Amino acid sequence: MNTIKTIGYAAYSRGATLTPYVFERRALRDNDVAMEVLYSGVCHSDLHTVRDDWGWSYYPIVPGHEIIAKVIGIGSKVTKYKIGDHVGVGCLVDSCMECDQCHRDEEQMCRNQPTYSYSGFDRITNEPTQGGYSKHLVVREEFCLRIPETLDLSKAAPLLCAGITTYSPLRTWNVGPGSRVAVIGLGGLGHMAVKLAAALGAEVTVISRTAAKVADALDLGADKVLISSNEKEMLNAENSFDLIIDTIPAKHGLDPYLPLLDIDGTLVIVGQVGPMDEISTFPLLLGRRRIASSPIGGIRETQEMLDFCAKKGIVPECEMIRMDQINEAFERMEQADVRYRFVIDMASLAHE
Ligand code: NAP
Ligand code: ZN
Repeated sequence: MNTIKTIGYAAYSRGATLTPYVFERRALRDNDVAMEVLYSGVCHSDLHTVRDDWGWSYYPIVPGHEIIAKVIGIGSKVTKYKIGDHVGVGCLVDSCMECDQCHRDEEQMCRNQPTYSYSGFDRITNEPTQGGYSKHLVVREEFCLRIPETLDLSKAAPLLCAGITTYSPLRTWNVGPGSRVAVIGLGGLGHMAVKLAAALGAEVTVISRTAAKVADALDLGADKVLISSNEKEMLNAENSFDLIIDTIPAKHGLDPYLPLLDIDGTLVIVGQVGPMDEISTFPLLLGRRRIASSPIGGIRETQEMLDFCAKKGIVPECEMIRMDQINEAFERMEQADVRYRFVIDMASLAHE
């Protein structure tokens, strides 16, 4: 299969609004899968990347790493997928596959740096990668996920990033029946953390700034909601969690949250990438509490999460948008006005 001429939406410079961008996907290698993108989730990381918040963006850049697609072509050595299959692609499209971390199925922490769906460079040609806000994609077989048949395709996309990024720490810290889990920030990652932790049997508390989200949090499976500005509520909740998953997408302080951990509890930052406000070690020392972080998840664990969601009937809460509504969606995400993930119907790009 030759190169595929495709269209996507790209930012042409730092912080620019996204506009149409015509480009080519590589000709199929032996182990490549070519696909037509059906749905693309909108992650806050897409917005961070457009703005170059992390200092590694290039332009033009096509964001998108929560991808549901249909296979339209396969390389000669592909065995796992055939034309017509539905596949998922997340943040990872390649890794060295040779280091101890890759052998441990933790390609997200590949010693030779994983290749991201965008903000990455192809390991063979060194060309910049471009993400899922586009009609077509070419990804090596090992980095495609099988979408269980019972999962609603139009809602499954956010599992590929928001789902795995919250599932992975829940598994790392052995969350199950009896675990007391709190989730800070009820957005894309946060609402998945609630659903997944509840399905794993944990008692779940949402910590939100937004009183208007209380009813939703309970519907999503939370047992309790704390409003972070309510000092009395926060004080009463001290020493009551084993694990806190912090999804706040900006620099912030941890002082209000660390005392909420019980002895030996862990607060996992999955939201902010970069500096945080200064912290006091008092609550860490006095309760042997820990601060940790966690990046997405490996391919094996992502498949496990997809199968778990299919088995438990878990799907993200999605608001479907057209591709040309993406800039408005970014603005709304910035205002925390999304319940709880925008998903782009890529068919809306057909007539551009
Ligand atoms: P999102 O949908 O915008 O949700 C973030 C939520 O955090 C908001 O809904 C809001 O919830 C709360 N919030 C927003 N701004 C805040 C602020 N300034 N202070 C306190 N709370 C605030 O974002 P997302 O897609 O879930 O992504 C969250 C973060 O995770 C982003 O920074 C993203 O880059 C990062 N991320 C990391 C990984 C990883 O591998 N670790 C993977 C994917 C994404 P309330 O209204 O309930 O307060
Ligand atoms: Zn993401």
